[in-house]
Amino acid sequence: MKRVLISGGSRGIGRGLVEAFGRNGDKVAFIYKNNHEAAQSVADKTGATAICADVANPQEVRRAVGEAEVALGGHVDVLINNAGISLISLMQDVTDEQWREVLDTNLSGAFYLSREVISGMISAKSGRIIHIGSMWGKVGASCEVAYSAAKAGMRGLTLSMAKELAPSGITVNCVEPGVIDTAMNAALGTDTLAALVENTPMGRLGAPEDVAAAVLFLASDAASFVTGQMISVDGGFAL
Ligand code: NDP
Repeated sequence: MKRVLISGGSRGIGRGLVEAFGRNGDKVAFIYKNNHEAAQSVADKTGATAICADVANPQEVRRAVGEAEVALGGHVDVLINNAGISLISLMQDVTDEQWREVLDTNLSGAFYLSREVISGMISAKSGRIIHIGSMWGKVGASCEVAYSAAKAGMRGLTLSMAKELAPSGITVNCVEPGVIDTAMNAALGTDTLAALVENTPMGRLGAPEDVAAAVLFLASDAASFVTGQMISVDGGFAL
């Protein structure tokens, strides 16, 4: 049984992760920002502990990790940096505030959470950190400049953390989903979604369970020698 902390666990991919680790017999806490009702429903269904905090705020992250360690009964063994927001906009219309919010949530949030949990992992000489990036961080998306830059930044974060933390027995990897059927894509409209499916060689949208399967592997004993890797779960989209 591992102690697992997941950011963005109230909905979508994060919810799928909370459910998957719960089924695996692990002890799970998750962070969410606004959606109390959704978070409560995940907590009720899975027995996981819901913690309300903004991952873009380092003080809130410190408090949330403290609460998670109490709920989990010890330091975090597995951290999954999944919380994220997207922004679809022409580059010239992206405001300073939007740019900062997207970078702070997707990239800085992953750094803040990782920084808070690693002392426990270093003492234990073991740990797993898994970032949820995006295929757009690999190939870039038109009209998603802030999101693509943030997700590309997670690649550098992964590589650097993997090198720095390997001597402490901690692996760091990044799962890069393609188009997954969650609320994040709800605004795209049926035509755009159909076009995205057409551009996915596997011919379908991904499901949160597809992402969870890769994350479970990276958190498992079977992946103890895998670090610094970007694992695509995109049905071949970014090939
Ligand atoms: P959703 O929009 O469905 O869920 C986002 C989750 O993140 C929610 O739990 C939300 O909490 C939480 N969250 C957002 N901002 C913050 C914040 N500042 N602090 C704490 N929690 C926050 O997203 P998805 O499940 O689709 O995406 C999950 C991750 O996967 C993201 O990092 C996304 O970039 C990535 N991804 C998604 C893809 C997709 O096609 N869906 C493709 C590639 C990558 P609350 O409910 O309170 O709002």
